[in-house]
Amino acid sequence: MTQVSENFILPHCYQSSVLTLIITSLEYSFYLLLVTLLGVGLVVLTRTIMFTQKARTPRDVSFSGLDIHGAVQRLSQAIQFKTVSTQDQHGFNADEFRRQHAFIQESFPRVHQHLKREVINEFSLLYTWQGNDEKLKPVMFTSHLDVVPVEPGTEGDWEYPPFSGHITDTHVYGRGTMDVQCGVMGLLEAVEWLLEHGYKPARTIYLAFGHDEEVDGIEGAMKIAEVLERRGVELDYLLDEGLVIAHNLLSQKQEPVALVAIAEKGYLSLELSVESEGGHSSVPQGVTSIGILSGAIHKLESNPMAGHLSGIMRSTFETMAPRLPIPYRSAIANLWLFRKLFQNRLSAEPATNAAMRTTTATTIFDSGIKENLIPTQAKAVVNFRVHPHDTIEKVIAHVRKTVEDPRIKIRKLDGYIEPSPVSDTNCKYYKLLKVSIRQVFNDVSVSPSLMVGATDARHYTHLTKNIYRFLPIRSDASDLDRVHGTNERITIDNYADMIRFYIQMMRNTAVVLPRTDSHSTKVNLFGAGDTTA
Ligand SMILES: [Zn+2]
Repeated sequence: MTQVSENFILPHCYQSSVLTLIITSLEYSFYLLLVTLLGVGLVVLTRTIMFTQKARTPRDVSFSGLDIHGAVQRLSQAIQFKTVSTQDQHGFNADEFRRQHAFIQESFPRVHQHLKREVINEFSLLYTWQGNDEKLKPVMFTSHLDVVPVEPGTEGDWEYPPFSGHITDTHVYGRGTMDVQCGVMGLLEAVEWLLEHGYKPARTIYLAFGHDEEVDGIEGAMKIAEVLERRGVELDYLLDEGLVIAHNLLSQKQEPVALVAIAEKGYLSLELSVESEGGHSSVPQGVTSIGILSGAIHKLESNPMAGHLSGIMRSTFETMAPRLPIPYRSAIANLWLFRKLFQNRLSAEPATNAAMRTTTATTIFDSGIKENLIPTQAKAVVNFRVHPHDTIEKVIAHVRKTVEDPRIKIRKLDGYIEPSPVSDTNCKYYKLLKVSIRQVFNDVSVSPSLMVGATDARHYTHLTKNIYRFLPIRSDASDLDRVHGTNERITIDNYADMIRFYIQMMRNTAVVLPRTDSHSTKVNLFGAGDTTA
């Protein structure tokens, strides 16, 4: 027994030492894991805390005697002009634009007394408010006079007729209330108010209103840009319409954020075509043109170009993070850990997906004329909105590589444009824009972002490197459906704030001095010395 037990003792000792070793190494692994998790947790927590919101102190600004009632009436009247732009120009009504011009002249007497007014290419307007300090470069505010048509058949879905400019207790309704008669009228109201209160700009302020932004801006904004370029004008900055104050952007708990587009995507349409043997459908000879082209389109749609969570997108989320609910804030503060997860979440939403990458959309597919004939030809058009990370050349290379089929011809269609340059967010003009937004919209934060559609701003890129695209309209996703859609409307309160914002932006950046007291009043860039407001 002893022998046996001795025999057993040895292996038992051995066993227990192995067991101890295993337990020790398990304990070690456990502690290592615990320490690692604690370490990661600590880093995540520290970085999250670093993204906590800093307290803001909105400055006191006032806008005494701003006639909101009158401004709303004038906006309502402006909505009643059918200055519609259509792709084929059949809906273009020159008289409506002329009547609109006359209405603007009547409505803003001081603007027309103190500013130079020029009609460019018959229907666009350029106003120059001459500054008195030639050392300061001018700035420009832009908007557009045209609107999109109302989709035939949807007129009856409007709560009030789309060109009635109907005013309720809370809203003004109609095509152009958001995009963007509010911008044209809001800017003119701002200048009229400044003139009424005796202001005079130190630097020249231009107001430029194109008349065909909704098609391509070639007859309007492009012509205005040519005029200014011929005169050798260089701007310190340009503020165009653009992104808005987004409510509930990532979550219901998120506070509103003013998104300022600092760049605009490029535009490219490619025609893909294929020719193959046709013939009668009773004796098919393998794959048809339609089959070959469908395969290529399928490959393109299932292999989008790479998304990027760097550059503009990263700035968007990092500046937004301090005011986001904790899970979002943690993820953004710790992209080193959560990048993949966050990127997948953004790719799943069409809007954030479009902001992250060059998008691919097949818009035309054309082949076949008769049910029993195999067509020889098939053609498709694929539209790409080119992210500033990419170029048109890179997109074409991606298409060739993805399709990888010599039977498919690829042709670049006219109207392509590279992505815009990215404007600076560290310069004083962006900072002043941020300040102006917060002075009027106290509850919002400001983030740079990317414009996924196109604006007139792309025609002005040679006049300045500081182009910002922002329209101070509060909207959530459902409001945005009204732009170019049914029941477009703006709240009266929002329109009033919009005018205040333009006044404030002009006061802050153009250093507008009260005319009556221009020598004794010291006005700083923030308008703090403003004695009239
Ligand atoms: Zn617009």
